Amino acid sequence: MPLFNLRMHASRTDRGQEVHISGAERIAWDSSLPDLAHDLCQRALVHSRGLPDAVYITAKALNPEKVLHYPALAVHSYEEKDVASGLARALTLLASQGIDDSRRILALLEEAREKRGALLVDARSLERLERDPRRGVRASCMDLEGGIRKIAQKVHFVEALILASKVAHAPGICAELCLSDDPDYVTGYVASKSLGYCRITPLKPLGSPFGGRIFFYEGDKSDLDDCVHFLEEQPVLIDMGAYTSQQAKSIEKSLLPSQAPDSLHADTRNHEPHSSLQRPDKWAYLEQKLESLREQHLLRSIDPLSSGPGPYVSKQGKRYLLLSSNDYLGLANEERVKAQAAKALKTYGTGSGGSRLTSGSLCLHTALEESLARFKGKESCLLFATGYQANVGTIQALCGKGDVIFSDALNHASIIDGCRLSGAEIVVYAHNDMSDLEAKIREHPGAHGLVVSDAVFSMDGDLLNFPKFLEIARRYDLLSMVDEAHATGVLGAHGRGIEEYYGLSDSADVSVGTLSKALGSEGGFVVGSQRLITYLRNCARSFIFSTALSPAPVAAAHAALNILEAEPWRVERLRDNTRLFCSLLAPLGQVLSPSAIVPVLLYDEAKALRCAAELAERGIFVQAIRYPSVARGRARLRFALRSDHESDDLIRACSWILELCQK
Ligand SMILES: *Cc1c(COP(=O)(O)O)cnc(C)c1O
Repeated sequence: MPLFNLRMHASRTDRGQEVHISGAERIAWDSSLPDLAHDLCQRALVHSRGLPDAVYITAKALNPEKVLHYPALAVHSYEEKDVASGLARALTLLASQGIDDSRRILALLEEAREKRGALLVDARSLERLERDPRRGVRASCMDLEGGIRKIAQKVHFVEALILASKVAHAPGICAELCLSDDPDYVTGYVASKSLGYCRITPLKPLGSPFGGRIFFYEGDKSDLDDCVHFLEEQPVLIDMGAYTSQQAKSIEKSLLPSQAPDSLHADTRNHEPHSSLQRPDKWAYLEQKLESLREQHLLRSIDPLSSGPGPYVSKQGKRYLLLSSNDYLGLANEERVKAQAAKALKTYGTGSGGSRLTSGSLCLHTALEESLARFKGKESCLLFATGYQANVGTIQALCGKGDVIFSDALNHASIIDGCRLSGAEIVVYAHNDMSDLEAKIREHPGAHGLVVSDAVFSMDGDLLNFPKFLEIARRYDLLSMVDEAHATGVLGAHGRGIEEYYGLSDSADVSVGTLSKALGSEGGFVVGSQRLITYLRNCARSFIFSTALSPAPVAAAHAALNILEAEPWRVERLRDNTRLFCSLLAPLGQVLSPSAIVPVLLYDEAKALRCAAELAERGIFVQAIRYPSVARGRARLRFALRSDHESDDLIRACSWILELCQK
């Protein structure tokens, strides 16, 4: 008597496109096929995604001797306060399996949204491995071993458990992360042979139609085809052994209060609300979130200084060596800069009184724009109130729905926010990995859009592979954009930035900078062609709808720029100090930083906080950088050098850093 793999797939045609509604499958003896087909068909007709206009049922014969048998994974349930804690739980579980780049995992989850197939991802590098990235990989051809079938027909949980149990046994798979695409189903899971099946509620907001599934692969790349074949073709029956049908039902009930009853017109949204998602009072969410941050050593607070920036600062009567300032060239507290700022303030007042397009523009603004354009060797420049606004406004103005933005996995938050606000499709490529960038671009043939990257990565201090980046952008006819926040005043003999560093005559289409770091003031700017700047002046919302910079910071930045041009030795001193600092930390494995940012990775959030506190005891001011500035489990001390640090101070500081961080 042959076994059959019975599959149902329901879809609807919407504006010429086939839209997936639901799917399910069974493995059954031929005698039970008619009944099962009937059940699957009925199920196709009740789905919260709506009524299908096509239901396909296929039955394929299997050789019973080829079927493999595995036990079901053990089930654990995690009830979390909210989606953020649910996700944190999932990330922690994955981290326990050595999959610990949460930022990348969340980016992958975005990529998995709306895909029917799963992503297949290398568990170490987190690069995607599917042969056909549009289709993904589909776990298929599995069912429960006998007995419980009648129950299983309507039980999402059992189906998910069967799938997870098969996947966990696939050769090379070390974990799975899954969010249902059913809008009424907020539960998701992390599963692996060692963790079992870890249900997490909630893992997404109620009503969200976006799910996604990621398989993490740790096997040899040459065995990948075996793994995919197992997932897609190998018939597997899962034995629930310990579970009786009654137990399965009660698990289902306790965990899924809103599951549809056996009625054809069940509108699942009208049933009992998800009690775990109801807020007892309007502040409860905030309290819970803060509590969870505190538990994870992620709560932050403000630590005010009582002096302006310099190599030394004061706080509550104590002096500290400042090793974490972006005032790289010592221009934020420089006498000539302050004199110009004071003069502008006396002449023009404290506020600009309007946006640049209304009454807020002063000749100070346009003069600084001209100088910045000249300094950067570009036709034109536009000032923004902050670097953050420059990124957000520029990306939003340049890209929209239908465009694609290729963005480095470690780009600054302001770039990420600009991408999100634009409405364009966001494709995140592996950090500074130009072959991944190119591969991702090839997956989107003919795409219009933008490639965007930090020039100096703000938390790691490493440099964009700029020549290759430009070449790829040009080859695929995409706009190129770099954020030179930490490059201006730092890279190149004159501090002109990443182009000067690489000695290129060629440049990015869009270059963003800030006045708030090496230029010692505040504000952001964009330089590029006349055409680009005219466009941004008219279309960048964060430029149009925000008050122009006030006179003092504009004059200060201009004075600082003049000093930078006249005194390139400051850039040289900064580089010397960085070289000294990195070589002193060589016993920690520190290599020379190409920028003025030197991260010392401690990984553990609590350890980073402890080291920062102990350094503070000894008069060193440095921050522990934690999630969300960097991925969870990648906490660090982020040191930043200044041109006015003295060698003796750096030598003393490094001996303490070595002592504390090697512990
Ligand atoms: C600091 C920073 C910004 C934001 O600049 P602000 O002027 O501080 O708003 C943008 N991009 C990067 C890479 C940064 O480090």
